[in-house]
Amino acid sequence: MMHPFAPIHPLIINKPIFKTLYLMFILLALSLGIAFWTFTEYVLHRFLGHEHKGKNFFKAEHAVHHSKANYFAPAYKKAVAALVVSAVLLGILSLILPFYVSLAFIVGFVGMYGVYEATHFRYHAANPVPALLFLRKHHFYHHFHNPRKNHGVTTRFWDRVFGTYHPVRETTVRIPRAMSMRWLVDGDEIKDRYVGHFKLSGR
Ligand SMILES: [Zn+2]
Ligand SMILES: [Zn+2]
Repeated sequence: MMHPFAPIHPLIINKPIFKTLYLMFILLALSLGIAFWTFTEYVLHRFLGHEHKGKNFFKAEHAVHHSKANYFAPAYKKAVAALVVSAVLLGILSLILPFYVSLAFIVGFVGMYGVYEATHFRYHAANPVPALLFLRKHHFYHHFHNPRKNHGVTTRFWDRVFGTYHPVRETTVRIPRAMSMRWLVDGDEIKDRYVGHFKLSGR
């Protein structure tokens, strides 16, 4: 296959303007890869995790995550899936785009996937970053109030676009006592700083 830049004369390729443009394409592809992950995150979670009626690989793991809340699918399964998807996507993209532009897209996509995994794990297991508490409330509203709403984990954007957004700023999100997280409670009671954001329900 002829490389997309092959017909371009070397004198043009070596011009600074061409290098600047190429760098801009790389950065654009990286950003699009990041954005594309957030869309994938929404679609996988909403359609495979909740709305698909039959069985699928994602739904089985996700149901356990919902019922236990401290369960996360094994890392090796996710790593294999990420590797296969990246390799296939890179193969397809590099047929139509320069290799390094395709690679930048994949780096953005997989990098943001990693951010998603870490973020989701932290929501359940680690102390919140105060400025990002609203995202954690968004996710726990999905878990414990209405699993048809708030599918986005790293962003609320796609919920707004597709009409599944439920605002939580004014809501005190219920957490079943049996599933309360260590970062949230002090003994049996909710920590002072989270009163008004979360409350415990049940026994
Ligand atoms: Zn979760
Ligand atoms: Zn869910």
